[in-house]
Amino acid sequence: MIQMQTAPRAAEAAKPSRNMHLIQVTPDVACIQNVMVNLYFVGHNRPGADWVLIDAGLPYSAQGILRAAERHFGAGARPRAIYLTHGHFDHVGGLRELAEFWDVPVFAHELELPYLTGLSSYAPPDPNVGGGLLAWISSLYPRGPIDLGRRVNALQADDLPYLDKWRWIHTPGHTPGHVSFFREQDRLLIAGDAFTTTKPESLRAQLRPQSGVYGPPAYFTSDWASAWSSVQRLASLHPAVAATGHGLPMKGAELEQDLQTLARDFDRLAVPRRGRYVLQPAVADKTGVVYLPPAPVNALFVGALGLAGTAGAVALYYGLRRRNKSPRTAERGAPAFTRITATSGGDQPDAA
Ligand SMILES: [Zn+2]
Ligand SMILES: [Zn+2]
Repeated sequence: MIQMQTAPRAAEAAKPSRNMHLIQVTPDVACIQNVMVNLYFVGHNRPGADWVLIDAGLPYSAQGILRAAERHFGAGARPRAIYLTHGHFDHVGGLRELAEFWDVPVFAHELELPYLTGLSSYAPPDPNVGGGLLAWISSLYPRGPIDLGRRVNALQADDLPYLDKWRWIHTPGHTPGHVSFFREQDRLLIAGDAFTTTKPESLRAQLRPQSGVYGPPAYFTSDWASAWSSVQRLASLHPAVAATGHGLPMKGAELEQDLQTLARDFDRLAVPRRGRYVLQPAVADKTGVVYLPPAPVNALFVGALGLAGTAGAVALYYGLRRRNKSPRTAERGAPAFTRITATSGGDQPDAA
């Protein structure tokens, strides 16, 4: 866990972070790319201006987000609140540390609270959906819950404190309490994972983003009918700019055309051909997940394959180790392996 008892010094805060890249979407909305997920600063970067954070990045990203905020808004920058589109691990990674350090409230939909207050884990990810490595390894992703206790608040209807002129829209399907944020005056949409602008299951697409509208990350979507309705609801707003949880911001005619196509042909373009939640959704209420469709045979097969692969690798390792241990060196008591000492200067994670 990251300990942030004191703010980074000014010089430290001014250092660019390898894992945080800022894209100015509008004069008062900045997209922060945290490796392969986005979070947002909403507010003008002038002294004393109010701002909020939307979503909180990957695990261990708190220090990097803090530095990015101080570079953007100035030393000692502190948002008025943190809003969440949803609580998946790649959107709440820095949340607890940042909320405590800044001492600010967190807001999420009431159906998302079980996963943020220690009540329930999310429905298990589905590695059967295909599409790339990020789906294949999705069984390994944390699915919570985290526990923010009383710091997290349910969003109230028609009320977004500190986000003047914005409204939230319930866009379930990817998660039960997923929300999107929309500002009518410039038709700017922050869509979270309701839809994305990169192929979210593919690692290659994440590393080399190309524009285009895609469905929600399939491995973590547990109700496809609701996800389709949510995309239709967002498409009916005809956003001029869409800033999503994964991929680059999109705008204009290309966005309009792609989003309308996705809303119309969601079953063909976004819903996987097979998967645990394709025929039946996971069911959740205010206490969390209450029903899961049975895991398909494929998931069991994938799991068994993973276990068999791991067991094979361990057996191979010990087999090679035994072969390499010659009788002469064993007699002399010489070390069978040379110890390799780690040198300094390697890549350090963003936060200690
Ligand atoms: Zn998600
Ligand atoms: Zn995501």
